[in-house]
Amino acid sequence: MSRPRLMIPGPIEFTDEVMAEMARPTPSHVDPGFIDIFGQALEDLRNVFLAGPDYQPFILAGSGTLAMDSAVANLIEPGHRALVVDTGYFSQRMADIVQRYGGEVTLLSAPPGETITPEQLRAALTQKTYELVTITHVDTSTGVLTDIQGLTAMAKHAGALVIVDGVCAAAAEELRQAAWGVDVYLTASQKALGTPPGLGLLVASPQAMDRWRNRTTPVGSYYSDWGYWLPIMKAYEARQASYFATPAVNLVMALAVSLRQILDEGMDNVFARHVRLSNGVKAGIAAMGLDQVPTDLAHAAHTLTCPRYPEGIDAGFLKYVREEGAILAGGLHPAIKAEYFRIGHMGAASRSDVLTAVAAVEAGLRRAGYAVEPGLALAAAQAELG
Ligand code: PMP
Repeated sequence: MSRPRLMIPGPIEFTDEVMAEMARPTPSHVDPGFIDIFGQALEDLRNVFLAGPDYQPFILAGSGTLAMDSAVANLIEPGHRALVVDTGYFSQRMADIVQRYGGEVTLLSAPPGETITPEQLRAALTQKTYELVTITHVDTSTGVLTDIQGLTAMAKHAGALVIVDGVCAAAAEELRQAAWGVDVYLTASQKALGTPPGLGLLVASPQAMDRWRNRTTPVGSYYSDWGYWLPIMKAYEARQASYFATPAVNLVMALAVSLRQILDEGMDNVFARHVRLSNGVKAGIAAMGLDQVPTDLAHAAHTLTCPRYPEGIDAGFLKYVREEGAILAGGLHPAIKAEYFRIGHMGAASRSDVLTAVAAVEAGLRRAGYAVEPGLALAAAQAELG
């Protein structure tokens, strides 16, 4: 019997080539073959983020939260001011991390489903000076996409460093790190990067590295301190052995395969495929008469879709959807948790995956007692998918 497709906003379905790396005998972390794989992965990560050759990649054993911790721990000093662009659950987490390292947080909050415009950020930045601005590219709790290019331009103009949480966006939503001036772009392995959970990844601009070098206080985290990790990353890229803490060897091998697959497709093609798949899902959802959490499709993510339950339906219907072939996620944002569900469609997701998800939602709704005409949603999705 075929298993249901995992279509939550991470972890996702991984390719067979990536999974094969997880089953290989684990080499030494200083094996010359592994050193070459790690070095190549660092170079490829820079290219996936469209960062410059002088940008510094870090690949760490840990999850996306560790990548957030690493960025903030190294760039915030006690008493620094940070403006957190708050579009949901994960922006709040960033605010908590900034506070943990002694930063003073000002939240610029959007109601659930709304975004923050560059103009709103510009106005907020005239009130005070900030050392740091943080932005969530796609907030996984609302499906809201932020305008990273526009927001970063405002923040840089005001003299702040910019950290972007790209956990639910990297390698799927358009992001040109060097051209747009993003100082730290960070993510986790289990989403569009297409590798099982367990790696936190970030790429830092030369300006971010300078800020870290010029710190006057020690980094408040031992494991996250770039003072330990920078020589390791530089050594692997120079194809030399080194050790600080054991890397997640098989995950790095799997990541290297996934990064190659992404770069072989080409970043512009990857961005365009995510837009196409997203349009297909969103058209199918609309055809069933369901609203979505983002208040305007212009700021809706292309990595996930957040449909609102129709009248009389709740999270109980997700078990029918699973039986019909797709594992989806419930709500996450505390203020609206019970009102919506989430469909992930990122990474190696294909046309047939999203059609499976739309068909499973349609059948699941019918089984839960919501009248929806068979085939209507699929036709709408197919019209978008071409
Ligand atoms: N930021 C965003 C936008 C996320 O979606 C997530 C995970 N869902 C995280 C941060 C945290 O990542 P992790 O669960 O891998 O620690």
